[in-house]
Amino acid sequence: MKIHEYQAMELFAKYGVPVPKGEAVFDVESAVEVAAGLGSWPVVVKAQIHAGGRGKGGGVKLAKNIAEAREHAKSILGMTLVTRQTGPKGRLVRRLLVEEGCRIAKELYLGILPDRETGMHLVMASAAGGMEIEEVAETSPERIVRVYVDPLAGLLDYQAREVAEGLGLPKAASKQFLGMLKNLFRLYLDYDASMLEINPLVLTEDDKVLCLDAKIDVDSNALYRHPDILAYRDTDEEDPHEIDAFKYGLAYIKLEGGNVGNMVNGAGLAMATMDAIKAAGAAPANFLDVGGGASAEKIANAFHILLSDPNIKGILINIFGGILRCDTLANGVLAAVRETKLSVPLVVRMEGTNVEEGRRILRESGLPMITADSLTDAAEKIAAAVK
Ligand code: GDP
Ligand code: MN
Repeated sequence: MKIHEYQAMELFAKYGVPVPKGEAVFDVESAVEVAAGLGSWPVVVKAQIHAGGRGKGGGVKLAKNIAEAREHAKSILGMTLVTRQTGPKGRLVRRLLVEEGCRIAKELYLGILPDRETGMHLVMASAAGGMEIEEVAETSPERIVRVYVDPLAGLLDYQAREVAEGLGLPKAASKQFLGMLKNLFRLYLDYDASMLEINPLVLTEDDKVLCLDAKIDVDSNALYRHPDILAYRDTDEEDPHEIDAFKYGLAYIKLEGGNVGNMVNGAGLAMATMDAIKAAGAAPANFLDVGGGASAEKIANAFHILLSDPNIKGILINIFGGILRCDTLANGVLAAVRETKLSVPLVVRMEGTNVEEGRRILRESGLPMITADSLTDAAEKIAAAVK
């Protein structure tokens, strides 16, 4: 789950990580009030959306006085901000961060993320901050320092120094940076972050390091133990179907470009089903794992989510009845179809516990559905149906 920059900065401040003084606001007058209260000029007015690239898109502006602060707040609040990360549709700006400006001597980059290949934490840093790290990786990879941290040993002093050296910081700032990096690493671990990124981390003209941007993604599977992160949730920034899925405890991810909705139990089976759909010449519109012990109600909710996606031209249900019995599945599907008009072809393949009972329930329901007796058969039938 993503959180806003100002929220990430709140966490930074709690961990003793230096951030500019500032406050989030929802309207122009509050923006002006905060700007005036900061006590120095310039101030920076920043759009708060769950996407980067705001600077280039016109969502970050410097104000030298009250009139400019008002003008920028007016123009950014309510704008549809289009950046490389939002896609062409852009994102409506509903919140602003108003913070004190600073004199930047140098823009740097710092990121921490799990590295799946090595099973280690990866600390990435670069003296080429301000621009996207993917771009640096492509054009000047030698400018990125990578330090792999053993999860059991944690971040060691010499590793932190390696990062500081890679950034080429002057002595006083380097010392400050070492303390900051330790705190950031602790925050990253404490919050089960799947990504922590500061771009730019700046060196100020008076040789201090300061985080001018803050990005944190928290592993959604760990949210149950981070109520403060859950309180940061901003559903305006999320896909409405994914919000519903979250509510019902379903693992759902919308995919671009596909038109076959699919509902499966078990992540591995879901992946295999998506492959089978592709192999049959169609494309999956989502990943949806209802989990092992889904109830009829959960199945119905999952089915509603699929039916409300206008891109979906057909649905494939592939369930292996283990803990979730096939008759429960059948009843769940019936409940959902009765409430919502089934307007697209539906292919059902199920196997396992109570499969005969499940098939009987579906057959006797009189619903127009196509049954399949193997995964390949099911994928081919749904591919033919959406053609
Ligand atoms: P992003 O474009 O979404 O990554 O947003 P950033 O927070 O990184 O802002 C983009 C750029 O605006 C930065 O690279 C900085 O050059 C500039 N910027 C952001 N915050 C401040 C600030 O507090 N003071 C000054 N002077 N510039 C800032
Ligand atoms: Mn940035």
